[in-house]
Amino acid sequence: MFRPEAEAASEAARREVQGRQLHELIHTLARSRNAFWRERLADVDPEAIRSVDDLPALPFTTKADLRDTYPWGMLAVPRSFAVRAQASTGLTGKPTIVAYTTRDVSTFAEVVARSLVCAGARPDDVLHVAFSYGLFTDGLGLHYGGERLGATVVPASSGNATLQLQLLADLGADGLACTPSFAMLLAEQARAAGVDGLAVRYLLLGAEPWSEALRTKLEAAWRELTGHPVIARDIYGLSEVIGPGVAMECAESPGGLHVFDDHFLPEVLDPATDRPLPEGERGELVLTTLTKEALPVIRYRTGDITALQRGTCTCGRTHPRIERIEGRTDDMLIVQGVNVFPREIESALLEAEELHGAYAIVLDRRETLTTLEIHAEVTGTAVPPGLDATLRARLADRLRVTPRVVLHPEGTLPRASGGTVERVHDRVDDTDPLGLAPGGA
Ligand SMILES: [Zn+2]
Repeated sequence: MFRPEAEAASEAARREVQGRQLHELIHTLARSRNAFWRERLADVDPEAIRSVDDLPALPFTTKADLRDTYPWGMLAVPRSFAVRAQASTGLTGKPTIVAYTTRDVSTFAEVVARSLVCAGARPDDVLHVAFSYGLFTDGLGLHYGGERLGATVVPASSGNATLQLQLLADLGADGLACTPSFAMLLAEQARAAGVDGLAVRYLLLGAEPWSEALRTKLEAAWRELTGHPVIARDIYGLSEVIGPGVAMECAESPGGLHVFDDHFLPEVLDPATDRPLPEGERGELVLTTLTKEALPVIRYRTGDITALQRGTCTCGRTHPRIERIEGRTDDMLIVQGVNVFPREIESALLEAEELHGAYAIVLDRRETLTTLEIHAEVTGTAVPPGLDATLRARLADRLRVTPRVVLHPEGTLPRASGGTVERVHDRVDDTDPLGLAPGGA
């Protein structure tokens, strides 16, 4: 651990500090000269915010708030106190601007240093950073975190895979930080070019969603290249909160990411009701920054779907863990009052070896109670008897709502036109939204 006194602190000790920091944060913002914060907290009594249990009494912040106050409207300190500005990715229009004080830059470096150690990094490592350097937070974030740890950081940035492979081999990189797709591209090129002498032990991957299947592929590809085990671990973050280093998978227990909750307080809410969900249930991740100075956020709605787990991890860290991000609230379907995420359906279907991979989700809205139909293709032309019932039981268990499962021979379901395939369809009358013959296949 990079900072064991924080990373392995007891739940009680951590809660005590969090409560005090939350109170100070709300107190400072409510009384600041900043119009946005004074207005947002107008109905909040800072004296009543004393513990993390008081979070539900606080208002949310969103990406729209950052956009509406572009560029500096949410700064909680005079602009001249900020020593760095960066931008966050947006799908459309203007970027949103985020800013850091000297202390924020230091916090950022610390949480990334902790993340690196989570993945197995050591101070005497060579760390090759192939995230792009620039306005977005990944490149500089990993860079400063690596330096904080004491590693020799190689700011390779993105692009030019041939040069990157040469540097990885010649400088003896122990760690590679980049997007999962770039890690795969480098592995493929290294194999094709017969590059040897690679010493990489860990891949620290982020900035794109990726799956367990890709982890398996990446670890195998890099193991083959280096001749020793290589682990791939997920780093999570968002610029609005700080950048990468909000949460990190540890080497010992992949599958969940430790949230550094002495800086970033996580909640998981039901996206339909905004109420906190019990541990283990999937909903929207909402984050409050406890220590940020320039651009704090309160209950920031990430739109990312996950579940929270508490308790001590096998690595010894006591930070709660979030599940790998399963999708976005924008994709959520509500069926009979239950929140259903298309990615969960996909992962359940992909586990069935008999299936070909193509599938479609139909929401039958002809009756008052919406029902869920899942159409999937088997490999070949014959549908194995009983497979629909098996899949129905598996999906019901996973989704907590029982779907109708209809299986089709390979090649029956609609295919992508222009690159993306429409997965979710509404059935509102007797016209089949999938364009199939009446009565299914
Ligand atoms: Zn752990």
